[in-house]
Amino acid sequence: MAQKKPFVTKEQAEAIASQYPTPFYLYDEAGIRANAQRLLDAFAWNPGFREYFAVKATPNPALISILQEYGCGVDCSSETELMLAEAIGMRGDDIMFSSNDTPSGEFAHANALGAIVNLDDITHVDSFVQAIGDQPMPETMSLRFNPGGDFAFANGIFGSPEDAKFGLTEPQMIEAAARLRDLGVRTLGIHALLASNTVTNDYYPALARTLFALAIRLHEEVGIGIGFVNLSGGVGIAYRPDESENDIAAIGEGVRVAFEEMLVPAGLGDVAIYTELGRFMMAPFGALVTRVIHEKHTYHDYVGVDACAANLMRPMLYDAYHHITVLGKEDAPLTHTYDVTGMLCENSDRLANGRQLPEVEIGDLLFIHDAGAHGHSMGYNYNGRLRSAELLLCADGSVRLIRRAETPADYFATLDVLPVGERLKQERP
Ligand SMILES: *Cc1c(COP(=O)(O)O)cnc(C)c1O
Repeated sequence: MAQKKPFVTKEQAEAIASQYPTPFYLYDEAGIRANAQRLLDAFAWNPGFREYFAVKATPNPALISILQEYGCGVDCSSETELMLAEAIGMRGDDIMFSSNDTPSGEFAHANALGAIVNLDDITHVDSFVQAIGDQPMPETMSLRFNPGGDFAFANGIFGSPEDAKFGLTEPQMIEAAARLRDLGVRTLGIHALLASNTVTNDYYPALARTLFALAIRLHEEVGIGIGFVNLSGGVGIAYRPDESENDIAAIGEGVRVAFEEMLVPAGLGDVAIYTELGRFMMAPFGALVTRVIHEKHTYHDYVGVDACAANLMRPMLYDAYHHITVLGKEDAPLTHTYDVTGMLCENSDRLANGRQLPEVEIGDLLFIHDAGAHGHSMGYNYNGRLRSAELLLCADGSVRLIRRAETPADYFATLDVLPVGERLKQERP
């Protein structure tokens, strides 16, 4: 079994914990940068290439600003995410707005920012026109495709688009493209996200072939300009130590071959390739660091930590595997089997089930791997639990607080009562 290596040592983590109480999220700037560069290198053959980071994965301005240095834009799906993008200086075609079931005001907001709006349904052409009122139609818009059926390639089925709520059918794509053309849209982008967390180098190339064929059809039958093909997210990471990681260079090369074979002969050699990766950009470079506070031995052996599903929901929600390293015991034999639990009053509040670990003691720090995407951002306040801080381990070794931990005042902020201490202060200042 390959070893998954934490990006900090026990000594480093203890030093950080002496300043910022556990649990906390820790992100690895050097890792984020090296990976972003690998993505750019993999698609350097396409002059228009751009990554639109999926904000929902890790909506932290300090982290997105790092990606901004690599030319990345952002993919937003809600008004608040649009506001976050705007707050860090994203404007116009820096922003892709890929939403679904979209409230009208959000179309208007996206359009006012000049974002590229990616429509999820044929009826949204009219919703969008209504939402923008007397504003002119944008020059460039995008449509989200759903081919139906199963999405099978490389001897496997990697998704069931037919059961996904997203996107337009092929006949709807043709009809919507013609409507957009008639409304004055000059350039169309096409988008699809057909599988999630794929651990294979074949997903993007297979998806590219599907979208390239559709792009050619739209170009020829509708006579609309094709500006970009957006391969969206879905490129996964190796959460388990026995999985092999995706090779982004091979993925980029697979897309290039499809591009040369299909788009170039069709006269569409200037189409830009866009991606909207979330997980691939951040997941391996963020960890949840939590301390063991209890051990319990009943019908199972439990390790109780100071984090819970309110900090990392994926194991509870999808039974997702997150590898755990007991810091300082990286090389110790895995002699024990534990359920690693949080303190929510929910039996499903577990960060791991039946996990082989070295003998764990109270006070140990656990490094929960691959939590850098869809981790902190999925956090919630069930049981009055508060979301943790986010910290950046900078490339120079220093540590920066990039989101403070929530306090009870944050929890009370949306209520019309005050915590008793605050009330007493107001009554007797
Ligand atoms: C969630 C999402 C992504 C990112 O997906 P990852 O699996 O994190 O890469 C990209 N685009 C859209 C529209 C999404 O909803």
